[in-house]
Amino acid sequence: MSGPIDERDIGWVNEGQIGVEVRQGRTANIGGFEVVRVLPTKGRRTIGGWCFVDLMIPPDATDPDPLEIGPHPHIGLATVTWLFSGEALHSDSLGTEQVIRPGQLNLMSAGHGIAHAELSPEEGVQGAQMWIAQPEATRHGEPAFEHHGELPRVEWAQGEAMVLVGSFGEATSPARADTELVGLDMTLRSGPTEIELRPDFEYGVIPLDSSIKLDDAIVEPGWLGLVEAGPDRIRLDAGAGGGRLMLVGGEPLGERIQMWWNFVARSKEEITGAWEAWQARDTDRFGPVPSRLARIDAPPPPWLAGSD
Ligand code: MN
Repeated sequence: MSGPIDERDIGWVNEGQIGVEVRQGRTANIGGFEVVRVLPTKGRRTIGGWCFVDLMIPPDATDPDPLEIGPHPHIGLATVTWLFSGEALHSDSLGTEQVIRPGQLNLMSAGHGIAHAELSPEEGVQGAQMWIAQPEATRHGEPAFEHHGELPRVEWAQGEAMVLVGSFGEATSPARADTELVGLDMTLRSGPTEIELRPDFEYGVIPLDSSIKLDDAIVEPGWLGLVEAGPDRIRLDAGAGGGRLMLVGGEPLGERIQMWWNFVARSKEEITGAWEAWQARDTDRFGPVPSRLARIDAPPPPWLAGSD
């Protein structure tokens, strides 16, 4: 799915607790489809390698928007598609045409360039669209696509988790990971639970359907609870009714990334190069996508706007 990325943000709340910050997501519109953008947020571009988290949860569930995102390019990132309801058809310039349903994972690594489209045959698709910044070692490499029809599940007394990426407890996802990271879809039963963290990871907790207490901080649905690296465990409490959340984490990236539109790079020059290739319909870099949807043109990067 497409960005675009800009610098707006509704704001953030520091709960006054060491290591945990809570930030509000904001509504964004992607090709007519309304989403809640959780990451990037003010002053925070990445959590581990995770650099983008959109929740596709239409605020008005009785009148949901259709999901129709025409062919658009990516570089330097992996897209992680995870649905809560409905289904979607992914098609890309590798020739892939793959339907995805809840419980399944699509992971597309862009490398130096890929283009794709997403279409939901029915209205009402809900899910999470997330990006992982690729490290220097793979971001110039070949594009690739993976579909995982089944993922490992971990269950304990107070909850269960699907392991999208990385490892949790004894379970490890089969999905490709270019950096040390984890992505979980966790359902909590009533009452508090403690989960183990890797002290070298930073984490984001994103409640989906109820507020969740993260140690002593309250995190609302669509908000981000940020846990800096350090602790080896954290307490989660979704209250009497339980609740569902996404948990993302990873080793701090250690590289400052440049993000604009659908591109993740390290410099404006790299992004300009990708923008020029897409606008020039350079099929060496971004091949044709098997999709009936209209191609999405890139706006000019702000550093080029008005220069001619
Ligand atoms: Mn996309």
